[in-house]
Amino acid sequence: MVILLMGPPGAGKGTQAVSMVKKFGIPQISTGDMFRAAIGQGTELGKKAKACIDAGQLVPDEITIGIVKERLAQDDCKKGFLLDGFPRTTEQAEALETILKEIGQELTCALNIAVPKELLVERAVGRRVCRKCGASFHVEFNPSKAEGVCDECGGELYQRADDTRETMENRLSVYEASTQPLIDFYEAKGKCVAVDGDQAIDKVFADIVKALEA
Ligand code: ADP
Ligand code: ADP
Ligand code: ZN
Repeated sequence: MVILLMGPPGAGKGTQAVSMVKKFGIPQISTGDMFRAAIGQGTELGKKAKACIDAGQLVPDEITIGIVKERLAQDDCKKGFLLDGFPRTTEQAEALETILKEIGQELTCALNIAVPKELLVERAVGRRVCRKCGASFHVEFNPSKAEGVCDECGGELYQRADDTRETMENRLSVYEASTQPLIDFYEAKGKCVAVDGDQAIDKVFADIVKALEA
């Protein structure tokens, strides 16, 4: 089972990924989480990624494709995986085709979580993320049980540096210009399924499960 979670920044990809990992038993591979971990550890990769992320721009394809390729070669990906936030450009989508051939896996489906643009900024600026496990909460729409503490693992919640109104404007433009065209790419392959992301979190998840079982 190879699933792509697509959708604009703030659509709910990370939130749905947590439930999908539990239900389907495949690892979540989030390029955003990988970059944030590298920034936290102060690695060379983190240094290269930080300026792009803080500006709301994409990290260059060459770097991003490299880390995904390395990650997908690991043993836990043999039974399939859930890609969250990759691919985001045509070049990444084409690289993924090649990687899948190399590792002998086939794309099951690209889930496109659709959310009206005007809701996305509010979702991002109210987002709080767990430092330890990466789970997403929202101060208003999906608050953690105890303020500042992750429900999943007890880790500390923080606000991402790129979750500001200003940066979100760039991120949404980048999404429209570079990532949205991929929906056509996967539609042409008959692999794209749209999910209405403007519903309660558990309703969105129920629709995802229905789509994958169909
Ligand atoms: P993405 O990974 O697509 O950027 P997240 O899963 O981190 O998005 O969600 C963005 C923000 O919106 C988070 O604060 C999250 O708690 C909240 N959120 C996610 N799904 C919903 C939903 N269905 N309704 C309202 N808020 C949501
Ligand atoms: P969101 O879904 O809320 O935009 P992510 O955590 O997926 O958040 O991504 C955060 C940032 O990390 C992006 O704005 C971009 O700078 C970088 N990034 C994540 N995935 C990719 C990718 N596939 N290609 C290039 N840059 C990426
Ligand atoms: Zn956590």
